Amino acid sequence: FDMFVLAFVERIFRPTYRKDDIVLGKKLGEGAFGVVYRVSLAKKPSSKKEGDLVLKKATEYGAVEIWMNERVRRACASSCADFLYGFLESSSKKGSEYWLLWRYEGEATLADLMQSKEFPYNVETMILGEVQNMPKGLDRENKIIQTILRQLLFALDGLHSTGIVHRDIKPQNVIFSEGSRTFKIIDLGAAADLRVGINYIPKEFLLDPRYSAPEQYIMSTQTPSAPSAPVAAALSPVLWQMNLPDRFDIYSTGLIFLQMAFPGLRTDSSLIQFNRQLKRCDYDLVAWRKSVEPRATADLRKGFELLDLDGGIGWELLTSMVRYKARQRISAKAALAHPYFDREGLLVLSFMQ
Ligand code: ADP
Ligand code: MG
Repeated sequence: FDMFVLAFVERIFRPTYRKDDIVLGKKLGEGAFGVVYRVSLAKKPSSKKEGDLVLKKATEYGAVEIWMNERVRRACASSCADFLYGFLESSSKKGSEYWLLWRYEGEATLADLMQSKEFPYNVETMILGEVQNMPKGLDRENKIIQTILRQLLFALDGLHSTGIVHRDIKPQNVIFSEGSRTFKIIDLGAAADLRVGINYIPKEFLLDPRYSAPEQYIMSTQTPSAPSAPVAAALSPVLWQMNLPDRFDIYSTGLIFLQMAFPGLRTDSSLIQFNRQLKRCDYDLVAWRKSVEPRATADLRKGFELLDLDGGIGWELLTSMVRYKARQRISAKAALAHPYFDREGLLVLSFMQ
């Protein structure tokens, strides 16, 4: 089927929405650049029931977020929350706002789930469908964490293969989709589409310092401004190879892996403290481990023990994600093929050791 025909058919049949179609519900979040509500559609006799939706009323960055969501819809829909439509709403009192609509995926972000004392067991039935026939313990926790991390890396690989760097990967921006029983990525407000040069210059102030990789700029300072779209499209695969901007997200994902393994690093304050310690160790996780392990609390010891299972394969993956130099970090695709996710691979690895 011809791509142009498809695009044409979509233009005619894809539903569009207006302000008057939307009935505001509960507020779900409020950031510096927008407010998010749970909403439903005003009953239209002709439309079938759409279920619950989510609306973001966004400021100036809403335009970028609509662009990114449209790209994701076409190229890697399963990576992110299901996007319906975005438009400029200029009749509001506060001036123009961008309104973005998604399907309501579910009530819990990974941040909500990680806050529970039960984590990761509270996620077990959600993602695996049933309780594992295994005693509670490190092996079982590790299996759940593995599944969450695999789903997150899978979603990220989709974005990166599309040429999108998210730049704000954190547990608050990972939602559990009750429909597909998988974790999906949300909040493309700080994302960059490197293939066409959209939002090419990183907006540093959009980055969350708790989960940011140490590099200040995602592209090196030798590529300081956005070339025109066609030039960028031709150049960006080369620039991508040179700068590996996707590895910014990998660092953030590594910190999520770390927080899943170490219950004591799940609060903001403990993560900030960890970041300070890691910086003092020149971002060398092995050096960090050496500095904390001798006087480790029971909680820290438990995290190391989990990562040390199966010959330390989890620790190996973690240390290949959280590294100072972007080019030394593993890619999402390579991480998915890492023996941490593959029991047969473990045997090969221990044999090789
Ligand atoms: P912000 O810019 O405020 O961080 P987000 O896009 O991250 O905006 O959304 C804020 C919150 O709204 C999320 O943390 C999540 O709890 C909820 N949310 C966003 N999108 C969805 C969705 N598709 N389904 C369910 N909840 C969502
Ligand atoms: Mg967010």
